[in-house]
Amino acid sequence: MSALVWFRNDLRLLDNDAVLQACQNHQHVHFLVTPTLQHYVEHDWSLVKWDLYQRQLNQIGHDLADLGHILLIHPLDKFADCSAFLTDFCRAHQVAALYFNREYPLDEVNRDKAVITVLQNNDVQVNTFASNLLVAPEQIKNGKGEYYKVFTPFFKVWLQRIRENGVPAPYARNILQAASGRTLAFAEVHLSLPEYPTELVPGLADSALTEPLQTSNEWPVGEANIRKLAQQFVREQSMDYKRQRDFPSIKGTSRLSAYFEIGALSPRVAAHLLQRLSPEFPDGLPEGSHTWLSELAWREFYQHLMFHEPRLAKGEPFQAEQAKFPWRTDVERFAAWCNGKTGFPIVDAGMRELNNTGWMHNRVRMIVASFLVKDLHINWQWGERYFMRRLIDGSFAANNGGWQWSAGTGTDAAPYFRVFNPTSQGEKFDPSGRYIRKFVQELADVPDKQLHTPHQWLRQASLLDEATHSYPQQIVDHKDAREHFIATFKQVKNAE
Ligand code: FAD
Repeated sequence: MSALVWFRNDLRLLDNDAVLQACQNHQHVHFLVTPTLQHYVEHDWSLVKWDLYQRQLNQIGHDLADLGHILLIHPLDKFADCSAFLTDFCRAHQVAALYFNREYPLDEVNRDKAVITVLQNNDVQVNTFASNLLVAPEQIKNGKGEYYKVFTPFFKVWLQRIRENGVPAPYARNILQAASGRTLAFAEVHLSLPEYPTELVPGLADSALTEPLQTSNEWPVGEANIRKLAQQFVREQSMDYKRQRDFPSIKGTSRLSAYFEIGALSPRVAAHLLQRLSPEFPDGLPEGSHTWLSELAWREFYQHLMFHEPRLAKGEPFQAEQAKFPWRTDVERFAAWCNGKTGFPIVDAGMRELNNTGWMHNRVRMIVASFLVKDLHINWQWGERYFMRRLIDGSFAANNGGWQWSAGTGTDAAPYFRVFNPTSQGEKFDPSGRYIRKFVQELADVPDKQLHTPHQWLRQASLLDEATHSYPQQIVDHKDAREHFIATFKQVKNAE
């Protein structure tokens, strides 16, 4: 009898408990992935994330083949198709045990529950692991046995669990090597996603917006490459993270999010690298590296939240009364935001960074999200959706958490009355304008001093110079919009 490792969002051989346990416990192991294409489209996977996923998947196929194993890639449409396919597979290949890593959003949880029930009824033992997180959701509860809704106490207990559990050293390839002595050929698979529904939001076709990026070639794949990137960041830059992370013109953050999202890098590998900076890990780290560790904890906080509050996966705001906020359904302004044409330089630079590269700096994500919600009064769910359709690191949990934090509707959210001023945010976090100039070419000639409010300078310049400047006018008055948002939010809150 054999075992089956079922890959999903854990595209790695290193530090993958499902792989480790299957190989330790069984002589013969199958490796399978079942990309659920229709589901990905319905959940707004961006083309660039899909491209990265496929490249990493094919890389794993090569890695497994080098070690004498076959990776089977069998596309399905929907999660609901998984149980039947796995049952047939196990029957056909005499599989006695299934191994996989858990995922936490509602649909994923329901898919896995169905698979477990059906396979157990067919005498297949099912083994699940939490190796996409450092700490599993069940391990963090307050004195009343409830989950934490606020990050700071969550982080304290999360650190405590790491102290108690320790961080096992990543293993893996040697385990796989032990299973075979052959080398095989691997034929790469290239799958297309089905067509996206034409409307991104009611009344606006995605095709009316800047065309999405399709290739992820700027992002290396392969576990050795990804690990090297993580190692470089932790060893050489993480200590400066706290000082540098808010400035989008500096490469001061790790840019590892896309790898965490598809599971090409595990948080345990990251923790293991941090451990080399401090033998008392998770204590004793340099301040910057400790702050970086806290970002890994934010990632887990939002995944735990998805697990404990399944209603979030159904599109509900955490603060339920805010579902009644009278959002504007202004597709023109939304399109201007999506295309980076709002007339606010830092917002436009951020959106163009997203459209051109598939990634956006965290500080700028917060600025553009605040702008959409608190200046344009457009539903954060529209922004959440656009981000998912364009981001290479699109993560249901982190994206939903980030949007609800920005909108003031989440658990542990930014207070609704704190509204980012897009001009002063630009002045503070891109003082030299290097980031803005990189993405907003119309502003390339504007002097530093005028860059964050360039319109007067542009008007004068175009009087002198016949070539007209095409940079858009501001689409909203920040001061009025801010007041209106705060008053309306308060009204909705107090009406409950
Ligand atoms: P680093 O600063 O190096 O952080 C290390 C890792 O910690 C990241 O790779 C990521 O896995 C995690 N992380 C960091 N910040 C956060 C955070 N605030 N919440 C959750 N995890 C975090 N992150 C995503 O991975 N996917 C998303 O779809 C996503 N959408 C967002 C939407 C909004 C509106 C906002 C405000 C934030 C969003 N984030 C999202 C969080 C954050 O912006 C990105 O994780 C970060 O910019 C990725 O860059 P990095 O890898 O250099 O991060």
